[in-house]
Amino acid sequence: MTEQKSIIVIGGGLAGCEAAWQLAKRGETVTLCEMKPERFSPAHKSEYLAELVCSNSLRSNILENAVGLLKEEMRLMGSLIIEAADATAVPAGKALAVDRTDFSRTIESKLLSRKGVEIVRKEIPAIPTEEVVIIATGPLTSDALAQSIAKVTGSNYLYFYDAIAPIIEKESLNYESIFRASRYADGAGDYLNCPLEKDEYERFWNALTEGKCVPLETFEDIKCFEGCLPIEVIAGRGINTLCFGPMKPVGLVNPKTGKQPYAVVQLRQENREQTLFNMVGFQTKLTWPEQQRIFRMIPGLEQAEFARYGSMHRNTFINSPLLLKETLQLQTRDNLFFAGQITGVEGYVESAAMGLIAGISACRYVHGEKMAPPPGTTALGALVNHITGKDGKNFQPMNVNFGLFPPLPGRVPKKNRGEHYARRALNDLKKWQEEVCGIGQA
Ligand SMILES: Cc1cc2nc3c(=O)[nH]c(=O)nc-3n(C[C@H](O)[C@H](O)[C@H](O)COP(=O)(O)OP(=O)(O)OC[C@H]3O[C@@H](n4cnc5c(N)ncnc54)[C@H](O)[C@@H]3O)c2cc1C
Repeated sequence: MTEQKSIIVIGGGLAGCEAAWQLAKRGETVTLCEMKPERFSPAHKSEYLAELVCSNSLRSNILENAVGLLKEEMRLMGSLIIEAADATAVPAGKALAVDRTDFSRTIESKLLSRKGVEIVRKEIPAIPTEEVVIIATGPLTSDALAQSIAKVTGSNYLYFYDAIAPIIEKESLNYESIFRASRYADGAGDYLNCPLEKDEYERFWNALTEGKCVPLETFEDIKCFEGCLPIEVIAGRGINTLCFGPMKPVGLVNPKTGKQPYAVVQLRQENREQTLFNMVGFQTKLTWPEQQRIFRMIPGLEQAEFARYGSMHRNTFINSPLLLKETLQLQTRDNLFFAGQITGVEGYVESAAMGLIAGISACRYVHGEKMAPPPGTTALGALVNHITGKDGKNFQPMNVNFGLFPPLPGRVPKKNRGEHYARRALNDLKKWQEEVCGIGQA
């Protein structure tokens, strides 16, 4: 057992805040170190902790969907991130979207008022050696710390890009073309839809595939995460690919024509005040003038004012299957834990989930207790298995999905599978909480 006083969490993002919360809840003393506002990464803009750097959506909130299930498991485990998301939700159909400022402010104030948590606002350039440390510095870890991590892990970094979708001011939208609806007329109609007819779509597609992009830095190898590909890269795969992806029109009927449009651009509410809307799935590396020119070709966006343009950023992660134990501890150094996107999960919820696991794990470690991770049948366990499994050679970051879960016993019709995965996961999580964590501990 270590004589640990304060556990150091580096990075006050989604994972770091969740890890700090889980530790404090269990009576540990935590020092949470965040470099903002002294230093900002290329994507972070807000001074608050737990900033959502891109979309304001934490994706599906339904149990039959893997990320909805993950959220429910985290709710059951007393997650700070999910509690704050529920408390600051804005309408988004079956998704859980939040008012980003309220969300971050809620998390920060909870941590500030939590006994045992000290928040230090400074960049940590090197990994402390003596203390128990959780590294949760995310995909845009500062360069100095990245070098220090490279030294400790003894392995090379893997780089690829994520892309940010533009945000548009509501007042600049043209409602003569735009209609409000959710897909399959589900719910109150939370999305604004910009419909395109075939000729409009083809003109747009031509412009998009010929648009000028921001040149990439030469030292970085381009490996785009499949779920977050830039819109122009998807378009470049064929004239109809967008109609089966971010511009798919199925389930949407334009009330002005009574017909399904040829293609649709969906806009999702970005803030509680409904003054900003983001272009769903329109992450891009087009230059800013090109975004303005090309996206204004979309009916309804002719006069669009961009509150934020789309952009691309580095994503840094370690080769976790080769480096980490299933407790998210470094194999070669027991007092060093990793959490969040840097472990090779992808997404806000997944990053926070790995903060939750690292927090519980670190707490167990300081008390000399062994931590068995949640079973692989749960969304939490499936993610831990993905990042600490055996495939270090072809390791790629991944969102949670049912493909990471062990198959269901027997034959279950496709439409019922989500429900079955969820039922099995929640049962197994409950047992794990009772047997491994002790009731009230998890
Ligand atoms: C540009 C971009 C867009 C993304 N968009 C989405 C999206 O729309 N939806 C989605 O689900 N996921 C998205 N992701 C992926 C990912 O889910 C988020 O990056 C998520 O915030 C990761 O959580 P985290 O806690 O691991 O890291 P972060 O939330 O980035 O938190 C890390 C924190 O560590 C701090 N930090 C870094 N280095 C140091 C240091 N040396 N000392 C002290 N503090 C430090 C940073 O300032 C930051 O606050 C995106 C990622 C990027 C890069």
